[in-house]
Parts: sequence; structure tokens; C-alpha cells
Amino acid sequence: MSALEYAIGWVLVVITLALIVATPFALVHARTTHDHGPDCWWCHPHLLPRKKR
Ligand SMILES: [Zn+2]
Repeated sequence: MSALEYAIGWVLVVITLALIVATPFALVHARTTHDHGPDCWWCHPHLLPRKKR
């Protein structure tokens, strides 16, 4: 196996694990409508530029 294939395989594994980890959070936020507070990074993403609410 070449190094490139090895790297691609690792990327796929990491993406799969990330999805598995993120799924419970997505389900929790899909089932609950209340605000989790300003500290919840999912309800209040800090990476995105500020928008008017
Ligand atoms: Zn939240």
C-alpha cells in the first residue's frame, strides 16, 4: 500500500469516527427545542461570523 492510500484510509477513518461522535449531539439537539445557554457551542457556534437574530 502506498503512502497516499494509507493517508486516505486514515482520513476516512477519522471522518467516520467524527460522524459517530457527532451523531448523539445532533440527535439531542433535534429532540430538544429549549436553549442550552450561551455556552452551548452547537446552539451558538462561535466559528461563524455574528448574525442578527
Ligand atoms: Zn445546544
